[in-house]
Amino acid sequence: MQRFSVPSPSSYRLNPITSMATRSGSLIWFRKGLRVHDNPALEFASKGSEIMYPVFVIDPHYMESDPSAFSPGSSRAGVNRIRFLLESLKDLDSSLKKLGSRLLVLKGEPGEVLFRCLQEWKVKRLCFEYDTDPYYQALDVQVKDYASSTGVEVFSPVSHTLFNPADIIEKNGGKPPLSYQSFLKIAGEPSCAKSELVMSYFSLPPIGDVGNLGISEVPSLEELGYRDDEQADWTPFRGGESEALKRLTKSISDKAWVANFEKPKGDPSAFLKPATTVMSPYLKFGCISSRYFYQCLQNIYKDVKKHTSPPVSLLGQLLWREFFYTTAFGTPNFDKMKGNRICKQIPWNEDHAMLAAWRDGKTGYPWIDAIMVQLLKWGWMHHLARHCVACFLTRGDLFIHWEQGRDVFERLLIDSDWAINNGNWMWLSCSSFFYQYNRIYSPISFGKKYDPDGKYIRHFLPVLKDMPKQYIYEPWTAPLSVQTKAKCIVGKDYPKPMVLHDSASKECKRKMGEAYALNKKMDGKVDEEDLRDLRRKLEKDEHEESKTRNQRPKLK
Ligand code: FAD
Repeated sequence: MQRFSVPSPSSYRLNPITSMATRSGSLIWFRKGLRVHDNPALEFASKGSEIMYPVFVIDPHYMESDPSAFSPGSSRAGVNRIRFLLESLKDLDSSLKKLGSRLLVLKGEPGEVLFRCLQEWKVKRLCFEYDTDPYYQALDVQVKDYASSTGVEVFSPVSHTLFNPADIIEKNGGKPPLSYQSFLKIAGEPSCAKSELVMSYFSLPPIGDVGNLGISEVPSLEELGYRDDEQADWTPFRGGESEALKRLTKSISDKAWVANFEKPKGDPSAFLKPATTVMSPYLKFGCISSRYFYQCLQNIYKDVKKHTSPPVSLLGQLLWREFFYTTAFGTPNFDKMKGNRICKQIPWNEDHAMLAAWRDGKTGYPWIDAIMVQLLKWGWMHHLARHCVACFLTRGDLFIHWEQGRDVFERLLIDSDWAINNGNWMWLSCSSFFYQYNRIYSPISFGKKYDPDGKYIRHFLPVLKDMPKQYIYEPWTAPLSVQTKAKCIVGKDYPKPMVLHDSASKECKRKMGEAYALNKKMDGKVDEEDLRDLRRKLEKDEHEESKTRNQRPKLK
């Protein structure tokens, strides 16, 4: 087998895998890692096997339409992400077919389906990419137990990330580093920085007899129970490894852009040509290898005289991903406030109506609503746009629990990623990692800095398309004659702002201050009762204050 260290995309050529001619078959179980290039599980499964079964299991719980969900999709995923996944599977199937193989798609509870496959096909080698998500951690224990009891060899390499989170935690004395800088220091350079990656194959072992297990081709959205007209505006990002490699090549073709990349300096309102790479959905599903991405960036840095560095550089963004994977892996209950030792205990409000208004893009703040509509329609928004809506929902304006915002993102994002999403929600809500709760994004002036004409708002909220630019961020301040001319009456065609930002954010800061003081006093050991007491006190204070203050903005 010939390996390549970062070939130019035009030179993906490999020698065939040399068969060691054992008669045993292998099974490669695709979950993430939906790619041929730099896929050590695939490499191992194909090596020395006469036959190979490439399997993907459709879990109906994850994929089947749920008409009761708040937007088209299943209970766990919006239809954009399901479509992105199906496109990625189709592309993988087509790549495998070119190499003399194909993707075998089965339906059902993944563990059960896999056990049946192993039994029926009598394979002796099972290969799948290691996955740190709790769902796969639990499933993989069952699968490995089953395999060892039936004499099946398991190969489960770490290839979704640059580092093995467990190694970093071990190097750090058993705990994950909790700051990016300490993470960098402990992590050092990933071993993949210099390793040669297998980018393609001349051929793969053929499929064996598949028996009677209900194998199908990759289903269409319609076959999964979705209608074509279910969503009017689809994400412009197409799934799949081919698309991912094209996108990466294009994104990094401008070496000066890569060298000068500096986050958070990009424009969050740029949507026709986003200010960042939009590689996240491809990284999420493993359509692109993060190690290949890393090597490509390293090569560019070698070629240019000067370049930015972590945390702001493009390579630094990949390391943010590693940072969150490591903290998530090493922190019990990372996806909850309760029982999560790195998360501040805060008495967030429960308010379903407010949560639904935020989720549906109906807060009355066009900048916030446009971002939420981009999420609903595209499943992707710029990082700073995510900052703004997450801050607004939690510590900025509505004081609603970050877990509820996380759930909405988790379902709708095409790049929805357990470790990164939870980590960033804790960050933005000042529950962990970042603690400057007095720094709040203005839902009015922040977006205006980048897009004074409001092009982004006009695109995602066409109801405001004719609103003059001086009112586009605050349409409730427009005289009625202007609203009439713009065919958008606030309160009728577009909602009034649900809170007054100035007073709501002041109130949030006060609550955060009290919650932080409690966490400090209790040395982080705040229990349910402490939180209940604080909530009661905050409600009482708020009630007193609201007697003297009118909560609603003055509308013209
Ligand atoms: P680029 O800037 O081009 O960066 C390249 C890659 O680096 C990204 O694709 C991503 O894999 C990684 N990266 C960039 N920023 C971050 C970050 N802050 N943390 C971790 N990795 C990062 N990203 C997800 O991939 N999935 C999520 O579910 C997710 N949820 C988020 C929730 C909130 C509240 C916030 C504030 C951010 C979230 N992010 C999430 C992080 C970030 O916004 C996206 O990764 C980024 O915007 C994706 O765009 P890009 O690929 O163009 O990024």
